[in-house]
Amino acid sequence: MNISAELLSFLRGASRAVALTGAGASQESGLRTFRDSQIGLWAQYRPEELASPEAFARDPKLVWDWYAWRREAIKGARPNAGHYALAEVEKKIPQFTLITQNVDGLHRMAGSLALLELHGNIQRVRCSECGEYAETWNEDSETVPRCDYCEGLLRPDVVWFGESLPRNQLERAVEASRACDVYFSIGTSGVVQPAASLAHAAKKNGAIIVEINAETTPLTEKADFFLQGKSGEILPALVKAMWG
Ligand code: NAD
Ligand code: ZN
Repeated sequence: MNISAELLSFLRGASRAVALTGAGASQESGLRTFRDSQIGLWAQYRPEELASPEAFARDPKLVWDWYAWRREAIKGARPNAGHYALAEVEKKIPQFTLITQNVDGLHRMAGSLALLELHGNIQRVRCSECGEYAETWNEDSETVPRCDYCEGLLRPDVVWFGESLPRNQLERAVEASRACDVYFSIGTSGVVQPAASLAHAAKKNGAIIVEINAETTPLTEKADFFLQGKSGEILPALVKAMWG
C-alpha cells in the first residue's frame, strides 16, 4: 500500500483527529456488513425489516432470534489489524476520537478508549418498557425473555432504524467532528444518518477528509484522499508509514 507523502504530511501536522467506522471495519473479522446479502434462515429479510421498533412490535420473537444469532457470530469474532491500528492511532494523535456505528464491541476489545458507540452494543440487553439493563436471560426460551422488574420484553441495546441516537454520544461526535483537523471515514457506506453528516460538519470547518473503503461511496468525491481497499490492510500500513 502506497500512502502519499502529501497525506503523511497532513497527518504529521494534525493534533485533532476523528475516525468514523462502519460495518466494513469489521468485515475482516468475519462479520457481515448489512449490504452483504443476509444468509441462511435470514436471507429472506432485509435488515430494515428486523432492526426496527415496528418489526419488534409485529414479531418480537423473530427480532430477538435474529439478534441472538448475530450475538453468537460476534462472540467468536476477534478484532482485526484495522481495529488494532486505530487503537494505536489514539496513542499517537493528541486528541483522537473514534466514533463507530458498529455494535460488535471490537474496537473496545482492541484497546480503543476514546470511543463513541453511536448505535449501542449488541451484547447489552435492556427492557423495552422500563429501560432497565438485564444481566442474564434465558436464551433457550420459546418466547422473548422478560424483564425481572416489570415483565416487559427484553431487547438488544442497539439503535434501530427510526430510533434516535444516544444524545450525549451524538453531541460529542458532532463536537469532535467540527473541531478536528483530519476526519477519517472508514468502511461505512455513509448513507445512514446522522453519521453521514459528520463528515460534512468536519469538511465545512476545514478538516481534511480521508476515506478508506473497499468501494466508492457518496462521500468519495468530497474526500481529499480516497484510499481504496481493506481497512485491515490500509490502516496498519498508514500507522507504519507514520510512526514506523
Ligand atoms: P454498510 O453495510 O452500509 O457499508 C459497509 C461499507 O464497508 C461499504 O461501503 C463497503 O464498501 C465497505 N467495506 C466492506 N468491507 C470492507 C473492508 N474490509 N474494508 C473497508 N471497507 C469495507 O454499513 P454501515 O455504513 O456501517 O451502515 C449500516 C448499519 O449497519 C450501521 O447502522 C451499523 O450499526 C450496522 N451494522 C453493524 C455491524 C457490526 O457491528 N459489525 C454489522 C452490520 C451492520
Ligand atoms: Zn422492565
